[in-house]
Amino acid sequence: MLNNIQGTNKTNKISIILSYFISLLVAIFVFLTGGTPSAFANLMYIPIATTSSINGRIHGAIHAAFSGLLLGPFMPTNNGLILEQSTLNWAIRLAIYIIISIIIGSFADFNRRSRTYITNLLTHDSVTELKNIEAIRRKDEITNTEKTIIALSVGEYEEILGFFGYDFAKEVVVNFSVLLKNILNKYKNVELFRYDGMEFIIVLDHENNMYNKEEIIESISSINRSTIRIDDIPIYIEVTMGMTTIEGGVGLLEGVRQSIVALRYAVEQGNKSEVFNTELDTHFKNLITMASEFKIALSKGQIKAAYQNIYNIKTGEIHGSELLTRWISKGKEIYNPSEFISVIEKTELINELSKHMIDIAIEKLKKERNNDLIVSINFSPKDFKDEVISYLLEKIEESRVNPRRLLIEITEDIFVNKQEVLGYLYKIRSQGVKIAIDDFGTGYSSYQYLTDLPIDVIKIDGSIIKKLEHNIVTRSLVKSIVEFSKANKIEMIAEGVENEEVLNICKDLGIDYTQGYYYHMPTLI
Ligand code: C2E
Ligand code: CA
Ligand code: CA
Repeated sequence: MLNNIQGTNKTNKISIILSYFISLLVAIFVFLTGGTPSAFANLMYIPIATTSSINGRIHGAIHAAFSGLLLGPFMPTNNGLILEQSTLNWAIRLAIYIIISIIIGSFADFNRRSRTYITNLLTHDSVTELKNIEAIRRKDEITNTEKTIIALSVGEYEEILGFFGYDFAKEVVVNFSVLLKNILNKYKNVELFRYDGMEFIIVLDHENNMYNKEEIIESISSINRSTIRIDDIPIYIEVTMGMTTIEGGVGLLEGVRQSIVALRYAVEQGNKSEVFNTELDTHFKNLITMASEFKIALSKGQIKAAYQNIYNIKTGEIHGSELLTRWISKGKEIYNPSEFISVIEKTELINELSKHMIDIAIEKLKKERNNDLIVSINFSPKDFKDEVISYLLEKIEESRVNPRRLLIEITEDIFVNKQEVLGYLYKIRSQGVKIAIDDFGTGYSSYQYLTDLPIDVIKIDGSIIKKLEHNIVTRSLVKSIVEFSKANKIEMIAEGVENEEVLNICKDLGIDYTQGYYYHMPTLI
């Protein structure tokens, strides 16, 4: 931006000097071709119109006056006879020149103001009034000083947006940006940009080494211990940072990209901060390769399913089976599901996987001799769209399996786009399909929100179940989940049950079903 303005100023100066020069040339030409009656006198409109359209009405008017004077008192009406012009004649001409230049210049000024206004709109974020990524893009000069770029994100923006709505989330962003501004204000050569959602970019210019980089990073990290209060609701701030330092000769946008890659990696690994290195680029490139490999694997029949049985905790009888996807190549599992699902979930391929798992579930139900067995499949938030839901309902109708024997497992993060998902949940549930909340207890601490949702089953996460053996607090937490579920007629499955002790605790607590390595290892179909 700055470069642009400097560039424009330089062009303007050259055009001003040039226009005075051209006016002078025209005047000489007019003099030589017989004075002001010469048709060539009209040439003077060219530099007048050009100057005012490029440099606005003030420069235009000054230049017009200069041009008017050139064809003024000293320019004869007839060169051969040296007939002097009347004052009125040249004064009127001069006035006409000035009026024309003011009219053209005013249009030019208006145009420039509109352009500045639009540029401002484009390069500033309307919520925080900070510069945005477009400003970085426009500023993308190759730097000649060393710069540190920090990409910073505040976790759980999506959740805040989903649960509290846009206005609330906006308040959080504004308050957080004020916090950041206050911290960074005391340093020079530091610029703050809003990148996206709750992501910000900080550019530290090392020119003259005006400050200590570590000190700034430490100040930013100190936000971690703060709380933002909106409508009396405390929002805890957890900052994650991705950092990179670029030498002179590297573009600013490349620096921003590196910092974002480091940030994504920090978030993925659950670390507070991460510094960019080229291996991170390779890491993300591998993920991209994995997504394209998945498509081929699906068409080659390498995406299979394992089933893991779920047991009635009191009778020990099989109640159902959960289908878990497996990527098998040459008889070996090549990626674990959590790894590749987190990648394909970012693409439409997740829908292909879910449709594939629907097919396998229907086949299993059709073959099953036990007519009460329930088969569950995992759905990702991205599956809640017409394409997948219609596919599911069509397959149920086509195969005539009892929809009550199908259980769809979803995680709590599905409710980020609550209204949209709810519509689909009610739709499939009205057809008889059951819904389970998977990995329960790993997300929000409050579960009262479940009362408003169409839920049949809660699957208590393995990480909580494991703690039951030694942790009394966990036991009372599960006890209250059980009470809540019973009161709301929601069934419970304990996940990750690995030994008899835990199984007995689950039984004592009143959990209905159990799933885990203790009873059954996932087995390839
Ligand atoms: P999940 O839905 O929570 O599935 C249970 C995971 O825990 C499975 O891991 C299972 O093998 C493992 N598990 C079962 N019993 C025990 C136990 O006693 N101890 C321990 N430590 N683990 C146990 P898996 O198969 O690796 O799947 C991981 C996750 O990948 C699943 O977690 C689910 O979120 C996702 N996933 C698997 N298949 C699909 C699928 O077809 N679609 C979608 N969207 N997600 C899937
Ligand atoms: Ca599951
Ligand atoms: Ca689970």
